[in-house]
Amino acid sequence: MSFFIREDPLTGSRRIIASVRSRRPHVLKEVVEEEPFQCPFCPGNESLTPREFFRVEGNSGWLVRVIPNKFPAIPHMHDVVVDSPDHRADIESIPHLDKLLWTYKERLVHYYNQEGVKYVLAFRNRGKKAGASIPHPHSQILALPFYPKRFLEEKARYERENRNILGEFLRKELELQERVLSVSKNFVILMAYAPTTPYEVWIVPKDQISSFVFENRFEELAQILRETVSLLKNFLGEGLSYNITFQSAPPWDRDYHYYVRILPRVSVIGGFELGTENIIISVAPEEAAMELRAVKYAGQTELK
Ligand SMILES: [Zn+2]
Repeated sequence: MSFFIREDPLTGSRRIIASVRSRRPHVLKEVVEEEPFQCPFCPGNESLTPREFFRVEGNSGWLVRVIPNKFPAIPHMHDVVVDSPDHRADIESIPHLDKLLWTYKERLVHYYNQEGVKYVLAFRNRGKKAGASIPHPHSQILALPFYPKRFLEEKARYERENRNILGEFLRKELELQERVLSVSKNFVILMAYAPTTPYEVWIVPKDQISSFVFENRFEELAQILRETVSLLKNFLGEGLSYNITFQSAPPWDRDYHYYVRILPRVSVIGGFELGTENIIISVAPEEAAMELRAVKYAGQTELK
């Protein structure tokens, strides 16, 4: 058993890493059986959704639709993005994933041009354990009239230390190579140092880009997301529930380094976590990296 306490380099949040082999998350092999229902996100059922804001057209119908969320967290500020016409698709099987990422950027730009908007989060919930109420692949864009807690904590550190905290952290991680999964032309893919969920992966641009609004390397990022989600599913199970979040600054704030998180939902939050706001993680990130690299090099999936 390994036991240590770790601080997230960006927020200062503490994590208890108590890695016990027998407490490893169970590999979920089952694919969730769905009850038949009329899916509002499937082609042909467009009239079941509110009038769309935006769509990406393909050769035979739409590829991506952006519609208002029927149950918005904040009215008029909350999009649902239908990721694909294919009800059964997921990140690794969406051929136009680059266009989906471009759509996120377009919607971020749209909301950041609205008066009163301070912060916009693009995120994706996949599977019931990740909060997805509809199985059809979709994402969400939520605009806020305030800065969220995590961003404020990160910004306080950036300002106090007056340096690019994530950039420096990335350099150290690349030297250590303990948690790095792979490196592409412009991005580093690594296990989170002080994760919020076991097997949390970060995708970090090598250069300091403050906001996803300034991103344009969508094909490269799409390929990384496909390969990383495939790898996690190969290891944790095809039925894996997970979240993806885009941690990005508003365009007017350049002192930040954006990154993408993939958070597999293989554990539940209990009373300890709620009572302390600290999290116990049952798999050390460096052990998770070793396990995932072993799957990768076993040839089950190719990370370039
Ligand atoms: Zn559907």
